[in-house]
Amino acid sequence: MKCPHCECPLNTPLPACPQCGFSAEALGAYLGDHWVRLERITDAAHCLRLDDTRQCEVMMDDFERVFPQAFFAVYLGMLPTGLNVAELGFWLLNQGAFNTPLIQKRNDFGVVMVVDPVSKNLAVSLGYAIEGYFDPKTLNALLHTAGEKLRAQEYAAAITVTLQRVMQVLRGHARPKPWSPEVSHQASTIAVEPLRGGHRVSTPSTEPGHMAGNRSR
Ligand SMILES: [Zn+2]
Repeated sequence: MKCPHCECPLNTPLPACPQCGFSAEALGAYLGDHWVRLERITDAAHCLRLDDTRQCEVMMDDFERVFPQAFFAVYLGMLPTGLNVAELGFWLLNQGAFNTPLIQKRNDFGVVMVVDPVSKNLAVSLGYAIEGYFDPKTLNALLHTAGEKLRAQEYAAAITVTLQRVMQVLRGHARPKPWSPEVSHQASTIAVEPLRGGHRVSTPSTEPGHMAGNRSR
């Protein structure tokens, strides 16, 4: 990752940036080290019209369908005094509580976009598990394209081009996931009744290793 304050490259997670002294701890002392509830879209600066928001949400739905282990959130607003967009993005990525079924993965697979409509700056903060997929050239191109939209005050376009590009990069690294259900009692959450005795009359229900599972009622 890069230091959110001075952009010095940090190849291993360090307690503090060796160049400028920035640390997650100091940032936490400034903004707080509590969890904050972070919606997919926080438009504190009222930049988005209703149809802009809808356009972004449609694409976010797509994103979450394709990458259920990841999340994308955007914050549009003024920055706390003395902070830049990357620092706020870093903090939100670490302290944001997202509505995701896989809570333990929320930081590592997160993407937080911070937009300051006043200074026309933006940052895209990436979780540890995915930041390695974004080489500096790709990330700079993404920020450049989104920055052009931002300077033209096309906020929804800045968000959607970022989402599109992030999806392209993640798609390039996605592998088919081996089938390993994380919840063992899925069947009981599906509103279907097991067939009494099954539909394959010739197969005794007591057959060892039968895939139909638990029939005791
Ligand atoms: Zn630094």
